[in-house]
Amino acid sequence: MIRTSLVYAPLLIAALAPAPAVAQQAPAPTVKAVSAMPATATGEPNQAIVISGATGGPILLGTAKLGGLDHFTLDGHRTGNDQAGEVVGVASRMQSPIGPIVVTADARANRLHFFSFANGSLKPLGDSEPFDFAVEGVCLTRGPSDAALYAITVGDGGEIAQDLLYAAADGSIASRRIRSLHLPSKIKFCVGDDRAGTFYVAEEQTGIWRFSSDPEADAAPALIDSPRLGHLGGEVAGLAIADDGKTAWLIASDAGAGQLRLYNLAADGAYRGAITVARPDGSVIAEAAGLSVAAVPGFPHGALVVADKDNKVSYALVDLGLVTEALRLPAGGPPIETMPKPRFATVTARVETKPVGDAGDAADDPAIWADPADPARSLILGTDKRAGLYLYDMSGAVVDFLAAGKLNNVDLRDGFMLDGHPIVLAAATDRTNKTIRLFMLDTEHRKIVDIGDGPQPSGLGDPYGVCMYKSVKSGRFYVIASDTEGLNRQWEIVARPGGKAAIKQVRDLHLASQTEGCVADDANAKLYIDEEDVALWQFDAEPGGSDRGRQIGTVADNPALAADLEGVSLYDLGGGRGYLIASSQGNNSYAVYRREGDNAYLGSFAVIADGVTGIDGISETDGLDLSSRPLGPGFEAGAMVAQDGRNVLPDAAQNFKIVRWADIAAALHLETRTTEGKD
Ligand code: CA
Ligand code: CA
Ligand code: CA
Ligand code: CA
Ligand code: CA
Repeated sequence: MIRTSLVYAPLLIAALAPAPAVAQQAPAPTVKAVSAMPATATGEPNQAIVISGATGGPILLGTAKLGGLDHFTLDGHRTGNDQAGEVVGVASRMQSPIGPIVVTADARANRLHFFSFANGSLKPLGDSEPFDFAVEGVCLTRGPSDAALYAITVGDGGEIAQDLLYAAADGSIASRRIRSLHLPSKIKFCVGDDRAGTFYVAEEQTGIWRFSSDPEADAAPALIDSPRLGHLGGEVAGLAIADDGKTAWLIASDAGAGQLRLYNLAADGAYRGAITVARPDGSVIAEAAGLSVAAVPGFPHGALVVADKDNKVSYALVDLGLVTEALRLPAGGPPIETMPKPRFATVTARVETKPVGDAGDAADDPAIWADPADPARSLILGTDKRAGLYLYDMSGAVVDFLAAGKLNNVDLRDGFMLDGHPIVLAAATDRTNKTIRLFMLDTEHRKIVDIGDGPQPSGLGDPYGVCMYKSVKSGRFYVIASDTEGLNRQWEIVARPGGKAAIKQVRDLHLASQTEGCVADDANAKLYIDEEDVALWQFDAEPGGSDRGRQIGTVADNPALAADLEGVSLYDLGGGRGYLIASSQGNNSYAVYRREGDNAYLGSFAVIADGVTGIDGISETDGLDLSSRPLGPGFEAGAMVAQDGRNVLPDAAQNFKIVRWADIAAALHLETRTTEGKD
């Protein structure tokens, strides 16, 4: 035994020892800067950008900490200065939804300052609110689903704040905190990749991380490179992206190793090599701070701006063509600012409900009741699938809550006769008791009243989706509920003495896999069911009808659809005409189909954040409902109510968003129900 240990122990130690930092020692070709700016008098240079197209030629704007923002010509002459606090970071976009903008990060006021840039000078356009952390840097990025402009502000404690920048009514630029992200330790630099809809941050001690710029996306970052495990030799500092529309390089300052490293973003950030940068006099820049890339006349492959931490020069201008040549990499064209377009037509929500009481995936499915006498008094039922059933008014306030267990989905119909009076009847799937729950919506007192005649067992292993059907032919009311295996069961709802109601099973429909969202088209006696990974199906809604379904839209055939298909509902134009809208959960959008005929697909839309109202966009919708009835001011043509999987702006528990039908109709050129429309 001892002998064996002696033999194997050194091998084991060798295997476990950290890999030598080969990259750190690897010789890196030196690329000499074409020009450099003089050292700043008042503070260490940290980050600079070049703005071209300025009258009098391109201009370099370089941070000088308490010295503000210095202006230089590219041949190294200081031409001006803006006092803007303790400037540590600067970023710009000349093409953005809010026009040309320069943003600076002020470490003294802990704010961002916004400027326009014209005729070689900056004009203040507004400031952010102060951050509650020590600001270290700023970058800009475009959202992949809304194409909106976001500022990413990074901080001393690993803070990452994402703010939506928008034009306020008075012409100023304002910002709203859309979400807050965190890494464990100090971050000084970041860069946005507008084409990919991502941004990269440099966590000084740990490495380079990539996040989605979509505030509704998962917040988990991807690690691109790290000291010890990857190619970085030490602390990581500035980041820049050189993107000519085809190829894109991520360039990172490996300050610990005194090198710049290149990663190919077209190959998921694969490492491609390192260079050392020399000043025009041949001396090496031992530690580069901030980086940026710009299209500059005379640099056919673009220019790289390097901040010299030692302040021998402040900023050095490097020909990117020489960088790629030194590494035997293909040279790109001049970097371009990409102008992303949203993938789908976009609308914004006008109202959002109060967040539900439970954290995590809790809100699920809404149902709208339109008050025919006083539309502004319309109501919305919404499930908290961990706790019960909420009742909201049209302002999103909670008017009632029934702690009724794990109610997953809910639907409602009016005109159910109970003890000789028409009532608004609601049905919900109860996953706590495996039952169907029956409620009366007391619209006068704005209360949810349980009217189940004792427990109503569903016989389903896990009652999940639900919808209701009111037969025009027979006047009977039905509830259809699914389990999670493709079984859909239909019951008739019958009144019982004493103001109670019960269910009576009438038939089963079978699909091959999990279903949840469903809606009945009462006037046309059709039932629509979303098979989550597969398709939207149409069935006869009458219990005596055919059990065979027809596929309407399949995930496989329509690139606009991404599983899961979730909530589905109906917008009624009257006369049997209208639209079906289904949640395409996998890409945060809604698919619109014609209600009548062969249910043609008409297009998709997404609900995005609105800086002015401060309401965030909608992602990963589970349940949704539509009404074409007037629902009060702003909602004269009805509304869509949809569950939002990520309630941000600010970060909070899930809720429901209310979108005007008029906005959806305008975005996709759809019709709006006129007040004369009939069912
Ligand atoms: Ca969910
Ligand atoms: Ca589902
Ligand atoms: Ca949201
Ligand atoms: Ca659901
Ligand atoms: Ca919100």
